[in-house]
Amino acid sequence: MIVGRRKGQKKEKMMKKKAPVVKNQEFDAEVIDLTYQGNGVVKVDDFPVFVTNAVPGEKIRVGITKVTSNYAFGRVVKTIESSPNRNHEVNTAALTTGIAPLAHLKYDAQLKFKQQQIAELFSKQHIDVNVAPTIGMENPTGYRNKAQIPAREIKGQLTTGFFRRGSHRLMPIEDFYIQDPEIDKAIVIIRDILRKFHVPAYDEIHHKGVIRNIMVRRGYYSHEMMVVLVTRSKRIPGANIIIPQIKEVLPEVTSIIQNVNQDKTNVILGDVNHVLWGNKVIKDTLFDKTFAIGPNSFYQVNPQTTEILYKLAADKAELTGNETVIDAYSGIGTISLTIADKVKSVLGVEVVPGAVDDAKRNADLNNVHNVKFELGKAEEKMVAWQQDGLKPDVIFVDPPRKGLTTELIDAASAMAPSKIVYISCNPATLVRDVAQFKENGYTIKGDVQPVDQFPQTTHIESVTVLERN
Ligand code: SAH
Repeated sequence: MIVGRRKGQKKEKMMKKKAPVVKNQEFDAEVIDLTYQGNGVVKVDDFPVFVTNAVPGEKIRVGITKVTSNYAFGRVVKTIESSPNRNHEVNTAALTTGIAPLAHLKYDAQLKFKQQQIAELFSKQHIDVNVAPTIGMENPTGYRNKAQIPAREIKGQLTTGFFRRGSHRLMPIEDFYIQDPEIDKAIVIIRDILRKFHVPAYDEIHHKGVIRNIMVRRGYYSHEMMVVLVTRSKRIPGANIIIPQIKEVLPEVTSIIQNVNQDKTNVILGDVNHVLWGNKVIKDTLFDKTFAIGPNSFYQVNPQTTEILYKLAADKAELTGNETVIDAYSGIGTISLTIADKVKSVLGVEVVPGAVDDAKRNADLNNVHNVKFELGKAEEKMVAWQQDGLKPDVIFVDPPRKGLTTELIDAASAMAPSKIVYISCNPATLVRDVAQFKENGYTIKGDVQPVDQFPQTTHIESVTVLERN
C-alpha cells in the first residue's frame, strides 16, 4: 500500500525526475496494490499511477488521465485479466461518484483490506499487536440511516445526485446503493415536489438559488423520518404548499426542518434551524434505550453495526458496576447511556451544543440519573478534570477522524484510569495516539477489533483497549 513520502524526499524527487508517462498515454500493466483511498496502483519504473476501479492482481490497459511530478492518475481502458476479488455487480454510479469507492471489491476482500490496513499502520509504528478479522455485515448495502444529497440545476431542473469524484459536477442519481432504500425513495419524492413548485436549486458559482442539500435521516427501528431542507436563502418560496405535500406523500415524516446556510462553503449544515412542521428531533433506539436526534447532532450512520460496536466496547471495558467513567466525544450520549447501568457514573463531554442538549434529553427520556454531560472541547475538559483531581476508572474516547490531541492523551494518562477504550474511525490517528499512550505507560490489551461501520467505503472503524501497566 502507498503512504505519503516524507517531505524532503518528495522535493528531491520533484527536482530530479520527469514523469515517465504523459496524459492520454495507454499501456498494459498489472495492478500491484490498493491505496487507502481504494485506488489500484500500477507502477512505471518506480512511478505510481493510481487507477480507479482497478483490483490488485488484475492485468489492465491503463489510460493516463492526469500527471503530476510525483504520480499520475489513470482509468481502466480494458480489463485483460480480472481478479477473483472483483465484484462484477458493482453499482457504477456509486463507484464513480465516490459514494462507494470500494464497491468494485467483493465484500470479503473489503473486510480483509481494512484489517490489513490497520495492521500495516501499527507495524510501521513498530507496535506489535494482533488485528482481528473485521466484523462485517450480512447485507452490506442499503445501511445508511442518513443522507445529505446535493441539489443542483441541470437542464433547468432541480436535480439530486452526487458529485463526481474530486469535482462539484453533479451526477444525477436515484439509487444511492448504501443508503436505506426508504431514504432513496424519499429523496426522489421530495425532488419531484420541489420541481413541481419550481423551487430553484442552489447555484454554487453565482451563490444564488435556494435548495443546497436535502438531508434525510430515518430511525432504523422507529421509522421516524426527518427531512431537512438546507437553503441558501432565508425563505423557501411556496413553503406553505410544499410542506403539506411532503407530509402527505411521506407518512413516515415526523419532522420537517429548514436549515439555513448562507456561506460559500462545502460544509453542508448551517447553524440556524427552523422547524417547518412536526418535531425538532426524531427518535430511534439502540439496545433498550431511546434516543432523540436533532439535525446537527452526530449519530452513527450504520444502526446495525453500531450495536455490535458498542457492545464490543462495553465488553472489552470489563465493567463491574463500580466504575467512574468518562465518555469523551459523547455526541448525543449513545455510549454513556448504553453503559450507564453497568457502571457507577458517567461524565460525558461534547463540543456541539445541540448534541449536548440531545444527550441531556436522552438521559431524562430513559430515566438514567448517573450520567452528566458537559459542553466543551474534550481536550480542554480533560485537562481541567485532571487538574481538579478526577480519578476515572475507565475512559472511553470516540473522536472524529483527526483523533486526539497530545494534551488530551497526557491529561487522560495522568488521571491513571485502569483502562482506556479507544473507538476510532481513522486508523492513522489511532496508531499515532496509541504510540503516545504507550509512552505514558499503557499497553494494548487483546486484539484491535475492526467493525465495518461503512461497507463499500474506505472508512475503517475499530475498538482498541489500552491497559495501565
Ligand atoms: N460517541 C458518539 C459520538 C462520536 S462522533 C457516538 O458514538 O454517537 C464524535 C463526536 O465528537 C461528535 O459528536 C462531534 O461533535 C464531537 N467532537 C468533535 N470535536 C470535539 C472536541 N474537540 N471536543 C468534544 N467533542 C468533539
